[in-house]
Amino acid sequence: MSNQQALDIERERSGSTINQQQVKELFHGGAESLSKREWIASLVAKEPVFSKTGQEFLSRAERFHRGLAKGKRFAELRNQYGLDQEESMLFLKLFVDDFVPACLHIDMFLPVLRNQSSKEQWARWGSEAESMRMLGCYAQTELGHGSNLSGLETTATLDKAADEWVINSPTASAAKYWIGALGKTCTHAAVVAQLIIDGKSYGAHPFLVPIRSLDDHTLLPGIRALDIGPKVGAGQMDNGWAMFDQVRIPRTNMLMGYSQVDQDGTYHKPLNDRLRYGTMTYVRVHIVEFASLALSRAITIAVRYSVVRRQGSTRMYQGGEPQVLDYQTQQHRLLPLLAQAYAFSITGHWMGRHYHTLMDMLQNGDDSLLADVHAYSSALKSYTTKVVADGSEDARKSMGGHGYSMFNGISEPLGTYQATNTFEGENVLLTQQAASYLLKIYRAIKAGKQVLPAQEYTVGYLYRLLASPAALAEDRPKDILSPNGLVAMFEHRAARLLRAVGDAHLDGAGWETQLIAFAQLARAHVQVLVVRNFFGELAHHRLDGSTAQAMLDLAKLHALHLVLYTDLGEFVEDGFLATAQLDKMRAEYLRLLQSIRGNAVALVDAFGWPDWYLNSALGASDGRAYDRLVEAIQSEPLNTTEVDSRGVIRGYDEFIRPLIRGECGEFSMRMQEARHAKAKM
Ligand SMILES: Cc1cc2nc3c(=O)[nH]c(=O)nc-3n(C[C@H](O)[C@H](O)[C@H](O)COP(=O)(O)OP(=O)(O)OC[C@H]3O[C@@H](n4cnc5c(N)ncnc54)[C@H](O)[C@@H]3O)c2cc1C
Repeated sequence: MSNQQALDIERERSGSTINQQQVKELFHGGAESLSKREWIASLVAKEPVFSKTGQEFLSRAERFHRGLAKGKRFAELRNQYGLDQEESMLFLKLFVDDFVPACLHIDMFLPVLRNQSSKEQWARWGSEAESMRMLGCYAQTELGHGSNLSGLETTATLDKAADEWVINSPTASAAKYWIGALGKTCTHAAVVAQLIIDGKSYGAHPFLVPIRSLDDHTLLPGIRALDIGPKVGAGQMDNGWAMFDQVRIPRTNMLMGYSQVDQDGTYHKPLNDRLRYGTMTYVRVHIVEFASLALSRAITIAVRYSVVRRQGSTRMYQGGEPQVLDYQTQQHRLLPLLAQAYAFSITGHWMGRHYHTLMDMLQNGDDSLLADVHAYSSALKSYTTKVVADGSEDARKSMGGHGYSMFNGISEPLGTYQATNTFEGENVLLTQQAASYLLKIYRAIKAGKQVLPAQEYTVGYLYRLLASPAALAEDRPKDILSPNGLVAMFEHRAARLLRAVGDAHLDGAGWETQLIAFAQLARAHVQVLVVRNFFGELAHHRLDGSTAQAMLDLAKLHALHLVLYTDLGEFVEDGFLATAQLDKMRAEYLRLLQSIRGNAVALVDAFGWPDWYLNSALGASDGRAYDRLVEAIQSEPLNTTEVDSRGVIRGYDEFIRPLIRGECGEFSMRMQEARHAKAKM
């Protein structure tokens, strides 16, 4: 049977018409970026501590300890090779493939410390932090508040005489909660607390607070900390709860890169904190860049499984039972996700470039792109991580019963990935930030202003379409199936939504009455970008003829799927699309499904994920799903350590034998009927 599966997947490969290396480079952002990723992958692959084999069977405590071991080995390799921030992130967040405590240090603590310390502070702490002799975490969220920074209750009160801050958790809801690496691992925390001088609050600020002794790792006086227990994923991470009871730290432990406080209590506002916001945006940019990678792994597994799984009637399909990917519904389930993985990777690379343009401009004192990058990174983070989490789960379900096995290779990482919908800005809340920016743009358009050159690519179309009432009404693309026609469709819908929300806003509609419209607006605007970027990248990327055609088909499928099957109402609401056009689009969509079907395996192979990384019995490159599934179950403890030499399960004597020997009483229908009759009386 597995021989058939191996033949099936190889037949798919031999029928492919794409140049896989070209597509791989496109997906990974160019040859250089690809080779860097392959190098990091090779470092991880050869270390036994990073092996995923058998991880499904580990207890929470075992997972956590494995996470510690991974962190230590990572630190050794980071020092050995001098891995930079980006390489470290690839190593930990992509290939190690779970949130381990060291991840928090690299991903959150170091950037905060680097960015928010003064030069003198960085000179004092930098080398300890960089070499991980100080292990950090970022402690902002509390039991009672997360999104609303002004609601944080932890206080940092200046004691001028002692030249110290007193860190305190005044109520139970002020406890820090969810903080990665705080539960058991970290030695220091960047604690966000309300800064108070002489009874006056200056708002939330970060402070470097030692948490555990550097000698024996015990909690320092006045600090209580606990791990917060089992979560949906991220079992290797010790997310923590902590309370501070009048904990004293030197005044100079306030991170003073932006605001400063003198010994006499004088508070200095930041002269220029634009760079701070630019740097903070980076974490979201990074999440957007990584979103496609998460989706691509799930879709690799589901597509491969769907060509080796044969099921159904032989009547309508030649050559025996059909491969399930031959069903139109299976293609409709999976191929748009495949297209989305490519679309998000292209937009992720664009987001990275957009961000670096911003940082260059900020260095030259020009912050005209700051709001744009902030808004688009927020909206894209919100949009892509939701699509990826939901889409990965859909991919899992598309594999039927076997998809429910933890050997699927999707559910384990997905449990952890779900958190990206919540941290670094809760996804729904982030849409308000994007809407706020778009409303500013709308007001500028209404005031007759011109688009700034740096914003032309993102919001130029809004200026064009909303400059006059007639512009939107007259906007009718000629060929709705061409790349330009499809992009125009998305631009029209997004501009129309902005006009509706913007007019209501100018008429005085309350912010809280428009939250649903804001979410729609943000989604519509990022879809413009994602659709446009996909076509745009293909137009200037050199690909072989048939490869270019296959990618163009994917880009069209991506756009048509959004129009026809996810957001149709918003496209037809103002009569922009007529029924005849929809019929034409549906026919094209079906044609594209068929055309992409032939290259589906080659297109997922081009993501380039090695089998050790996928860790999936169902989606390995050799297609031997059944063999691998049956191999995997051999290690289940119920089949090994929980049975005696005869194969009898532990617990038989206490719980099974008494049952089958009739020691648990006699069941009587008459007794049941009598009880039901009594209940009715
Ligand atoms: C795995 C994981 C790791 C984490 N690690 C850390 C860490 O290391 N450090 C740290 O400081 N924090 C961490 N967090 C916390 C995380 O940053 C917060 O949970 C996140 O910011 C969301 O805030 P919240 O929990 O207060 O959600 P809430 O704000 O309470 O959200 C609940 C609901 O209310 C809605 N809502 C809230 N406010 C509004 C509003 N104004 N308008 C409309 N709707 C609203 C939201 O959309 C959401 O649906 C982590 C969380 C997770 C899950």
